[in-house]
Amino acid sequence: PVRVRLAPSPTGTLHIGTARTAVFNWLFARHLGGAFLLRIEDTDRERSKAEYTENILDGLRWLGLTWDEEPVVQSQRIAAHRTAIEQLLASGHAYRCFASDAELAAMRERQQAEGRAPRYDNLHRDLTAEQQQAYIDEGREAVIRFRIDDGATITWNDLVRGEMRWAGSDLGGDMVIARRAPADAIGDPLYNLVVVVDDAAMAISHVIRGEDHIANTGKQLLLYAALGLTPPHFAHTPLILNQEGRKLSKRDGVTSVGDFRAMGYTAEALVNYMTLLGWSPPEGIGERFSLDQAAAVFSFERVNRAGARFDWDKLNWLNAQVLHGLAAGELRQRLLPLWQARGWADDGPAADAGWQEDLCTLLGPSLSLLADGVDQAAPFFATPEPDEAALALRADAATRAALTALLEQLPEGPLDADTAQALLGAAATAAGVKKGVLMKGLRAALLGSLKGPDLLTTWLLLHRLGSDRGRIATAL
Ligand code: GLU
Repeated sequence: PVRVRLAPSPTGTLHIGTARTAVFNWLFARHLGGAFLLRIEDTDRERSKAEYTENILDGLRWLGLTWDEEPVVQSQRIAAHRTAIEQLLASGHAYRCFASDAELAAMRERQQAEGRAPRYDNLHRDLTAEQQQAYIDEGREAVIRFRIDDGATITWNDLVRGEMRWAGSDLGGDMVIARRAPADAIGDPLYNLVVVVDDAAMAISHVIRGEDHIANTGKQLLLYAALGLTPPHFAHTPLILNQEGRKLSKRDGVTSVGDFRAMGYTAEALVNYMTLLGWSPPEGIGERFSLDQAAAVFSFERVNRAGARFDWDKLNWLNAQVLHGLAAGELRQRLLPLWQARGWADDGPAADAGWQEDLCTLLGPSLSLLADGVDQAAPFFATPEPDEAALALRADAATRAALTALLEQLPEGPLDADTAQALLGAAATAAGVKKGVLMKGLRAALLGSLKGPDLLTTWLLLHRLGSDRGRIATAL
């Protein structure tokens, strides 16, 4: 059975790169009817925080990337990690290395002087029992290293990148699998070891992760072999690049899913966009699709090898598509909390769901971010400060005459579109101005601006709040 996992480290909020990895895992699992699992890799005790785990789970939920089993918490599996290390020590695949920091630094200096890339020169690979005892007597502690033979060749068939081949000599020498500890103990197990042990225990069939893990895959395949475990298949997805073509990093500003959410992006647009970051949809589904639509046709054959450049225009376009496609009631559901956070829409006629939906019908087509639905709704909930152009128009005599005429004929009770149109015509005639002049003036009076959504609808919405009269009177 297909079983995939996302293995986030809770050392920060949910990053867009991790979320994109989650999307590909989710799509692959759903396409094949497999399971999508989570493993919280919290073994870095200093940097891991419970609030980050919460943030990551919340973000995945928000995106609709549902998982199928209780998340595995890596720190609760240390006993299994230690057992695997004992097994490697017993089989001779691992050994204790007593090299001190000073010795390791001296080794790197030597390598630098010789113009070699830094690596561990397997200094303590073949210590005799006497040499080991001598170090222990000195009071030295030891890390545990896993042997990586320089002559080893590691190959796998990557679902994205095809045939992969690594030389053992490119993996940096024997790797540390447990932190420094007294020689009769096993220190904290490290990433490559625990990932292999946990992926095997979770019966993961496919490891899908960013291409920055390719060298780790080489090391992990050696561990699978040494532990007598069957390795999963691997797929390495292209990195997300910034506008300059470099790996997207914290310095690029907005990189956490929560940031995008706070900016007013919808989950639908964001997952849609992340799917397009590195995957080319097949003919027929276009670029705007739901997760389920993508899952139906997802395959790694259409995942590119090249890095995917982040494209704000496309994300904005997708977000606008999503917002424009929402029914007014649905849009209202999403905007209401944002409005309420501003202290709006809580009481009086503006708290009426029908009125709010009608406002959403008016604003919906012009939104590109949810946050636009806050900015553009603002003049409905509170009288805006007029801008200069609006003030100038309000000072115009003909405009004032027409607005005065309109105010005189303005009914207290309900106003429908036909009556409102007729009123505009009558007031303009009474003041001897063109209807267009009055309409411009009315907009300036109601919204404090010459720009804005459809005037008649705007007016009727404000009339239902009972705030058109006051705004016109104030403008005069
Ligand atoms: N915790 C690792 C990371 O966040 C997981 C990598 C993997 O998928 O194996 O990069």
